[in-house]
Amino acid sequence: MSDTIFSKIVRREIPADIVYEDDEVLGFRDLNPQAPVHVLFIPKQSLATLNDATPEQATLLGNLLLAAANYAKQEGFAEQGYRTVINCNEDGGQTVFHIHVHLLAGRRLHWPPG
Ligand code: 5GP
Repeated sequence: MSDTIFSKIVRREIPADIVYEDDEVLGFRDLNPQAPVHVLFIPKQSLATLNDATPEQATLLGNLLLAAANYAKQEGFAEQGYRTVINCNEDGGQTVFHIHVHLLAGRRLHWPPG
């Protein structure tokens, strides 16, 4: 698949404010935050969109969500609440084609998002 800005962040070729890391997941602050907390959780391996995920990557997908939840607990806002979002392709609003879970928190989030 094609290289993206997020692959460059994984390889430390461009800077990012990294707040979470394990063997397969990286979490870093969004450059253009939409809430007081806006962190992106990405797999270190390349995977463009949710459409491209295979059954073998089910655990990886789950681990992205668990990383977000564990970060929320660690930072103390899990009980107050937060939102996780995966945008897919054009109508979903995806702009970076390296799958990522948005974690948004720190303010009241409205639904539906529009
Ligand atoms: P998408 O629209 O694909 O779901 O989300 C992409 C997100 O990546 C956007 O919220 C955007 O602000 C963020 N973003 C784009 N380029 C960079 C970057 O170079 N560094 C960081 N930290 N975030 C980025």
